[in-house]
Amino acid sequence: MTRIKVISITGAGRSGSTILDNVLGGVAGAFSVGELRYLWRRGLIDNRKCGCSNPLLDCKLWPRILDRAFPEGIDPARVASQMRFTRTRYTPAAVMRSFHGWYRNRLSPLVEVLTELYPAIAVETGARFVVDSSKLPTYTYLLGQVPTVDLRIVHLIRDPRAVAHSRARRKEQLDTAERRPMTQSGPTRSAVDWLTWNTTIRRLFGRGTNPYMMLHYEDLIGEPAASIERVLEIADEQGADISHIRGHEVTLAGNHTVSGNPGRFQTGPITLTLDEAWRRDMSDKDRKTVERITRPARKSFGYD
Ligand SMILES: [Zn+2]
Repeated sequence: MTRIKVISITGAGRSGSTILDNVLGGVAGAFSVGELRYLWRRGLIDNRKCGCSNPLLDCKLWPRILDRAFPEGIDPARVASQMRFTRTRYTPAAVMRSFHGWYRNRLSPLVEVLTELYPAIAVETGARFVVDSSKLPTYTYLLGQVPTVDLRIVHLIRDPRAVAHSRARRKEQLDTAERRPMTQSGPTRSAVDWLTWNTTIRRLFGRGTNPYMMLHYEDLIGEPAASIERVLEIADEQGADISHIRGHEVTLAGNHTVSGNPGRFQTGPITLTLDEAWRRDMSDKDRKTVERITRPARKSFGYD
């Protein structure tokens, strides 16, 4: 059975997974699928836009991949419904050993689907490795069960104050006609999410059997080439061509990501800059709330 290398980006919301996905997708030999978890609902059922700007069903690539993976056809509604077992509320089932048998049974129909899907992606795109930024630790856990996936894990983490500030702001999605805003949340919710997600991810994958690394968003923006090289190392892809990165300039060549934040529609040269607006615009009260809640683990994650 051919195994396909998949770099799974996992992390709390607004940690910069779309930009990491975009930059990694530009490496020679990589193919970025974006948040593949949403292929079924947002892509095949809602027919939202692919990263190439076509509605997914009109994209030149995805229908070919699906035909190859599922020559008999596949019911996206059935898979979308099974995908509910990767919702955040099932995270404890991935963490607690006593639930593993139960949880793996629930995930097994999805394992069957993904066993066919990832190799088809590699064949149709000619990629040596796939980048998936589905983000949810449960989805990364699911990928760990797929026999055709050779899983490499990047735990992307960003300063909790920056995350909370970003989550408090309004941001529009660009892949739906009505441009629904992305979910906003207050400092307490953001801080609790940051703490639980990051500790869970480290606990689940930090000492697992699959190669794992923690990548600070601030390092990715500060030293893009060195950071991408570190990621490529855990994928045994060191030496891959990263000439699309020059200092802080990255040239994005377009993509076929099925979901992600609005940044995935950017192409051409972009300059990576650290968004430090929280230092200026965040109220003292909100900042202290975030710092108090995240204190138990912040230092161990490198944010003193
Ligand atoms: Zn496309």
